[in-house]
Parts: sequence; C-alpha cells; structure tokens
Amino acid sequence: MNVSDTPAREAGQDFIRDIVTADREAGRVGEVVTRFPPEPNGYLHIGHAKSICLNFGVAQEFGGHCNLRFDDTNPTREEQEFIDAIERDVRWLGFDWGGKAVHASDYFEQLYDWAIHLIRDGKAYVDDQSQEEMRASRGTLTEPGRESPWRNRAVEENLDLFARMRAGEFPNGARVLRAKIDMASGNINLRDPVLYRILHASHPRTGTAWCIYPSYDFAHGQSDAIEGVTHSLCTLEFADHRPLYDWLIDNLPVPSRPRQYEFARLNLTYTLLSKRVLTELVRGGHVTGWDDPRMPTIAGLRRRGVPPEAIRDFIGRIGVARADSLVDVAMLEASIREVLNRIAPRRMAVLRPLKVVIENYPEGEGELLDAVNNPEDPTAGSRAVRFARELYVERDDFMETPEKKFFRLFPGNEVRLRYAYFVTCREVVKDGAGNVIELRCTYDPATRGGETPPDGRKVKATLHWVSARDAVPAEVRLYNPLFTTPEPEPGDFAASLNPDSCEALNGCMLEPSIAAGNEPGPMQFERLGYFFRDADSKPGLPVFNRVVGLRDSYARQAARSGG
Ligand code: ATP
Ligand code: MG
Repeated sequence: MNVSDTPAREAGQDFIRDIVTADREAGRVGEVVTRFPPEPNGYLHIGHAKSICLNFGVAQEFGGHCNLRFDDTNPTREEQEFIDAIERDVRWLGFDWGGKAVHASDYFEQLYDWAIHLIRDGKAYVDDQSQEEMRASRGTLTEPGRESPWRNRAVEENLDLFARMRAGEFPNGARVLRAKIDMASGNINLRDPVLYRILHASHPRTGTAWCIYPSYDFAHGQSDAIEGVTHSLCTLEFADHRPLYDWLIDNLPVPSRPRQYEFARLNLTYTLLSKRVLTELVRGGHVTGWDDPRMPTIAGLRRRGVPPEAIRDFIGRIGVARADSLVDVAMLEASIREVLNRIAPRRMAVLRPLKVVIENYPEGEGELLDAVNNPEDPTAGSRAVRFARELYVERDDFMETPEKKFFRLFPGNEVRLRYAYFVTCREVVKDGAGNVIELRCTYDPATRGGETPPDGRKVKATLHWVSARDAVPAEVRLYNPLFTTPEPEPGDFAASLNPDSCEALNGCMLEPSIAAGNEPGPMQFERLGYFFRDADSKPGLPVFNRVVGLRDSYARQAARSGG
C-alpha cells in the first residue's frame, strides 16, 4: 500500500495513535508496521480482540500493514488446532494480514546466529546451574542477584557448549544460554535473562529440527526487527521487559529498530481472560469446549451469535489507555444489542408455552396476518404469520391473581396479541394438581392486525404468541455469566463458577419461519431477546442460543449515575 496516498488520521483518539501520528509527521517512520503475536496455546478471547483491533486498526488507519505472527517458541504447549482457530478468528473479526501468517519459528536459524553473535561479543554465556539454583541467585526487588559461577566462561567454551546444546547432547534443563547484562540491576529482567533453553520436544512447524528454543524475550523483539515492525504494541506486563527488548536490539545487528509501547489489558467483570483458566475450564469439562457460547473466546462469542461488528464496536468504545481498568461486561452487551437491534429480523417464539383456545374462532380455520420484520429497517419488509383457534402464549404473561401493575393476561382482562387481535381471558383450565394448563379466551374480530377497535377501547399489554398447529418445537438455551462474582479469583476460579450459567429450555415453540433456517444471522424473538441457531441443531429439533436479552441494564445504570 502506498503510504502517502492515505490521509493521516486525526490525532487524539488514544496515546498509541498519537505516538504513531507524531512519528509519521516527524519522518521517524515510513510505512507503519505492527503485528499481532499470539502464542498458539489456546483460543483467542475478547481481550485478544482488543490487541487485534488496535494492531490491525492502527496499520489500516495509517496505510501500513499488520502481521499475524505466531509466537511459537514453546512447543510443549502449542498445537496446530490453536493455530487454525486463531487464523479463523482474526479473519472473522474482519482483519487481513495480507498473504501468509508468520511465525517466530520462521526465524529460529537467524535467532540462533544472533545468539552466537552475543556469545562472541562476550554478552552471553552458557550456564550449568539448575533452575532452582538460578532462581535462588536471582535476588529480589530489594536485593541484587548473585553472579553465576559459569558467568565468566571463555567465549570458545560457550560457543562449543551452545553448539552441543543445539546438537542434542544434553537433557532438558541441563544448561541454558543467558545474556550477560547485570545481576545487580534494579530491573530483574536484566539480571542475565535466559535466551535459550533445552527442550526435547517436537514443534508443530519445525518438528524435531530443534531441541533448544529461544525464550519469549529473545524471540520477540528480534522477530519484530526482522519484520520491520515500527510500533510493537503489547500489554502493560511487558513494560518491565522493555529495557531488555532495547538492550537486545542495541546489541544485535538487526535490520530495523522497533519500539515497544504498552497499553492496558482488557479486564471484564464476571469474566476471566487468562488462557490458563480458559484451558482449565475446557479440560475440566466445566464448559463444552473452547467454543461454548458461555466462553469469552472469539469462537464462543461467534457460536453464541455475537456479530463481529459488535466486538469491534465494543473495543472502539472502551478505547486504549495506559492504566489498567475493569470494564463492565454490560458494556459489551450494550454493543451487541445495538448492532443486533439494527440488523436482526423480528420473529415470535414462546419459550414457556401456555395454551390458549380462542373459543369464538372457528375450528379448523386460520388466517395469515402481516408481521413487520424490523421496525428499525423499513427495507426488511414483512412476513405472514398464521393465526388460528389454538395458540401458545408465554406462561409468564398470565397470572391467575394479578399483582399490582400486572396488565397482561388474567381472568376478565383484555390484551393485544401482536399483529393479530385483542383477546380477553374468560376461563382458566387446570389439571388435577391445580396447575393452569390452558386459557379459554375470546377475540374481537374488529381488532384485526391488533388495531384499536371503533369504540376506541385500549389495552395495556401486547403479547407475542404462536399458532399451536404451526409452531415448531425447539430447545432454547439461556445464558448467565460463567462466574457469580464481578471479579472472580483466577487462582480459585472454581469457587465462583456459576452452576446456573446455562438454562436449557425444552418444548419451546417457534414461529415456523424461524425454524425454516433461511435466516443466516441472529434474530430478535420479540420481547425475549436476540437468538441465534446453535451448531447442536438437528433436523426437526433446532437449538437456539440467547445472544443477549433486550433489557439494557447498562444504559439505565449509566443514566442513573450520569444524570
Ligand atoms: P495469557 O496471559 O492469558 O496466557 P497472553 O497474553 O499470554 O494470554 P498471547 O497469545 O501471548 O496471550 O497474546 C497475544 C497478544 O494479545 C499479546 O500481545 C497480548 O498482550 C495480547 N493480549 C492478551 N490478553 C489481552 C487482554 N486481556 N487485553 C488486551 N490484550 C491482550
Ligand atoms: Mg503471552
């Protein structure tokens, strides 16, 4: 892409974009190059979406490009399944890395050569200490570390040992290659950090070619430099690694000089965004898989029915800052609701059916009534829904003895059935145990289409319904947060797992056009929320997920506190 063709975006949206704008204006960078560097040891989650939107977004806005780079330096935890899932999810979010994804493993040979470069310069050494010994001599935040007895090995000996590490002569953990920086540094990351470790493990891409693997710190900045990354954007926990990042770039003959900038991670209430926890949820069978609709993974959100534009909208709204914060999950829901309100066709479905018989409607007859597909979108048109003598309404829409302010169905009360007629509840039918099993009602033919009758009579409630004969039974799954506390403890997440995070309802009744399956995206079930067909659907038994309810608790809360 030609950089000069692209108008520079306005500064001021966030500090990262301000930095990039300033670098461009001062001529410090030409083409803006960023990267999104996931480790393929799990599926991507909504926190990664923040990094994806930032890295790909900045590249797009400044006419540069963003690499998708797999940070695949730890073969014991990485799998092809995760690599494939990550590519699928980034694409689905709407981003393109142009051509092929890149991998830290593409650079293993170059990284090895650079390790030798450091050894030759006397800036790296092979350490024979055990992991425990290294840990014990590392010092603390207040005490300096102690130098390794192997720190002053001769260059030739280091070169020999490092080559033999590569050749596979030593078992795991026998030796490491360390940078020789400063064991007394106030920054623990500079106390002779490990650059290479021995790991006899097969790698998803390089197979058994290597039995030593670079550390994150050694691979990351150098990969950035190889790719000409100009702005290496990462989360705050890497701020303390930046001096090491810069030290390595300064001490190696790298082809470019990337700069690292840190931004705050996304944290969400009622949610844990640590891959370790997400992995345990999957392995421990607490969820059905990485794409369980309750999971905060991109795959889970997609399966649940969240559109990618809602995720991008949410990420745009929360912005990018340097201070850690906790975002209310209701904000994510608000973005989902807003997008779906615009695009989702309306349908009628009854989740907990109660039968209604319209006594004055002729038996065996029916009629087609016109129902609006989306009041927010006039181009969406309308459809026909069948009205007949036997219907289902929502059990919750009836109370035998109405509470105060209950305006829906109760004996003697009249309500509107949406798009159909005014009906009045005349009689309640119960089973032997006293449960209400049916309502006997009458309708007013003068209210066809749900219109106010000539006498101007008003009703206070409009209910959704489906024709009993036409309805298609379905399972509908309602979701609640996976955790019961706003800030679950990652170390003890099991303690706050919500036992009621999935409520599966059977015998729900759908308007037949829902079950026909020709609606590719989520639908609004009137008065109930937004729903999306789940992959568990079988012929004759559709399964729907509730994406999100209709109630905007976030907006109401904001209105209350913001005035
Ligand atoms: P975890 O700490 O859960 O293992 P990670 O950060 O190590 O996750 P990576 O695959 O290394 O996972 O992440 C790839 C990129 O996504 C990194 O640049 C990381 O900073 C960023 N990232 C991960 N989690 C979040 C988050 N919650 N918010 C914003 N960015 C994130
Ligand atoms: Mg990481």
